[in-house]
Amino acid sequence: MHKATGEVHSVNESLVGAHIKGGAVMNGEVAYIIIEDGKRLKAEVIDVKENNKVYLQVFEDTGWMKVGDPVEFTGLPLAVKLGPGILGSVTDGLQNPLYELGKIEWFLERGLKVDPLDNTKKWHFTPKTKKGDKVTQGSVLGVVPEKLFEHKIFVPFSLSGEFTVQHIAKAGEYTVDEPIVTIKDGSGKDLELTMAFEWPVKKSMPFKERSVPEKPMPTGIRILDALFPIAYGGTACNPGPFGAGKTVLQHSLARHSQADVVIIAACGERAGEAVEVFKDFPELIDPRTGSSLMDRTYIVGNTSSMPVAAREASVYMATTVGEYYRKQGLNVLILADSTSRWAQALRETSGRKEEIPGPEAFPMYISTLISAFYDRAGVEVLGDGKTGSLSIIGTVSPAGGNFDEPVTQATLLSTGAFWGLSRALSDARKYPAIDRIDSNSKYPSLLEEDEVAYLLELLRDGKAIASNIILMGEKGITDASYIRYQKAELLDAVFLQQNSFHEVDGVTNPERLRFMFNMVKKIIEAPVNLKGKEAIRSHFNFIRQAFLDWNYMMPNDDGFEKQKTTLLNLVKKMGHVAENV
Ligand code: ADP
Ligand code: MG
Repeated sequence: MHKATGEVHSVNESLVGAHIKGGAVMNGEVAYIIIEDGKRLKAEVIDVKENNKVYLQVFEDTGWMKVGDPVEFTGLPLAVKLGPGILGSVTDGLQNPLYELGKIEWFLERGLKVDPLDNTKKWHFTPKTKKGDKVTQGSVLGVVPEKLFEHKIFVPFSLSGEFTVQHIAKAGEYTVDEPIVTIKDGSGKDLELTMAFEWPVKKSMPFKERSVPEKPMPTGIRILDALFPIAYGGTACNPGPFGAGKTVLQHSLARHSQADVVIIAACGERAGEAVEVFKDFPELIDPRTGSSLMDRTYIVGNTSSMPVAAREASVYMATTVGEYYRKQGLNVLILADSTSRWAQALRETSGRKEEIPGPEAFPMYISTLISAFYDRAGVEVLGDGKTGSLSIIGTVSPAGGNFDEPVTQATLLSTGAFWGLSRALSDARKYPAIDRIDSNSKYPSLLEEDEVAYLLELLRDGKAIASNIILMGEKGITDASYIRYQKAELLDAVFLQQNSFHEVDGVTNPERLRFMFNMVKKIIEAPVNLKGKEAIRSHFNFIRQAFLDWNYMMPNDDGFEKQKTTLLNLVKKMGHVAENV
């Protein structure tokens, strides 16, 4: 195919205008701009205008670029290379491996091209088809062990029609670039395949069959698992003002969610923050597998110091890799922090293109892009009783913590769970600062439906009584109301609040969530015969402290059962004290 060429005619930061000199250019295709010292800067066509004019967004620093610099169009869309070797790696949004974690701050050297997957590493391939077999897209040609999983080598999803296996490699060690299979299409044409293939990042990999997300995914975070759950294949929106705990929550989800694969798209909230993720993760041990957390993690990172266009690329890179591991039959979780930075990148580019702006200067199409992104999550039925899932949890950081802005609103409409972080709660250090009243989820909880309703009712009552106390003072309310209020506060303090940084309290498995709930319920339902606000308050303080101490103990700790007895005795006493008076 004859590829188009062109010439730079305008440079506006990462938005570059070019004239096409020959050939045709497609929206979304990759181009290289060759700057003075011969370096080739990667760019993507984002707008094809009349009169042979195109706009490109450049993924690298455009300093030194000049009017007249030559442009080479590739005719190919921005793609990701999919195959074994992605897990455990850290790349930027263009799949350039970032080997040296310390160097993340300054992006790769401009124009440097690195192989996305290590092509020197040998993988042990075991064939699963033989000569003469008929295969179609998605057929499993063979498998290789990748960290904790058996990685399936597929017939690329871009191929359509039926093929016949002509030759398949024997079991043995191969690199991702060595041909391992030859297949013949209907017209008799041979095609050589390797263990990797490319897929355009902006196109979703088609679902074989889609099914409804309805199985809760335990996250280890009590307020989520009990009240505002996410399902395998579900989506959640986590907006919050600066410093309210979005990143801490995401890290906790990355470590403790019961997903097979976690993909972190770190879109540069603060420059230093993304670096922290990269530095921390390789050292963390996965509590479930006992091996490095990185073995089931892929990090695609951008920091705010990288060009805006690279942020967008990282969101798409994460999603496509996620879809690929879903095809492997795994439960994948994408954590995108923060999608607002992505939206801001789109706003900057749109502004430079002088498009007609929508609300708050975001482009009109922002909600379409956001909903298309979350729509790539879901449960995929893969056949033979197997499924895979891709869940997406995105943080949103609206300016001033105002949830009425376009990105939060569009995200809210596209996601199944809403975890709104509240400034009031984070100021009161009630972590996770997820609003107890305004958050919601359409997915099933680890608790029963009526149990969830029971807790939410208590929380609403507690909030109403709290505002009465503010209006009328403690004296203005009855002892019965005050007891109800104390019960709501207790529920909040010992069950909903959770210290992410504590080894034991930081993660609660479904079994412990259940017995904690049972204990909370017992306390809420216990008769209280105390008289007077002071007596009520002080007794609930004892119970709270005993419960918190218990939360910090492992079930196999010596004191665990003893503490439980102490707690139960305190609860019993609550009903007896007054009787004895
Ligand atoms: P954001 O990403 O929303 O700007 P962070 O996630 O960086 O906010 O949180 C800010 C600070 O709040 C953290 O450094 C930590 O001290 C505190 N914090 C947030 N969540 C928790 C939690 N679950 N447990 C304990 N401390 C928390
Ligand atoms: Mg943050």
